[in-house]
Amino acid sequence: MYNFTCHCRQLTYGYIGQPACCYSCHCTDCQRASGSAFTTNMIVDHADISLVGGTASELCYLHNDEQLQVTCCPCCGTDLYLFFTNRPSTATILTGAFLQQHWFRPVAHIWTDSAVSWLSLDDELPCFAKQPAWEDLADLWAFQFDKKR
Ligand SMILES: [Zn+2]
Ligand SMILES: [Zn+2]
Repeated sequence: MYNFTCHCRQLTYGYIGQPACCYSCHCTDCQRASGSAFTTNMIVDHADISLVGGTASELCYLHNDEQLQVTCCPCCGTDLYLFFTNRPSTATILTGAFLQQHWFRPVAHIWTDSAVSWLSLDDELPCFAKQPAWEDLADLWAFQFDKKR
């Protein structure tokens, strides 16, 4: 099991499962929500996330006309994971919160049209100017594991 936790460490979740994808997103929403240049997001089955300890806050707000629910720490405000309430079986873990960082690798950069100008994306990962088709991301993710075999 991999654990992810908030800045003040009072809230910790566990994740065990097969992620559906992991990519870095440079969209302005991720930049603003994280206060950083980009976020690296892991798409998972919501059921594979479990509370290990602590008390969570759940915030709901509209994102592109869809209701987004964000699970965060009520003490330090760190966002840990989120899902759209009309697709509750799929969740997105904000991977910066993982205590273990070396077991996954993002397979693409998306929304590079809005990437900050001082960042040089020279890691040879595919770049998508905007939102790619889900199939494209899933294929890249599957290919990563094919290579390891
Ligand atoms: Zn906290
Ligand atoms: Zn984004």
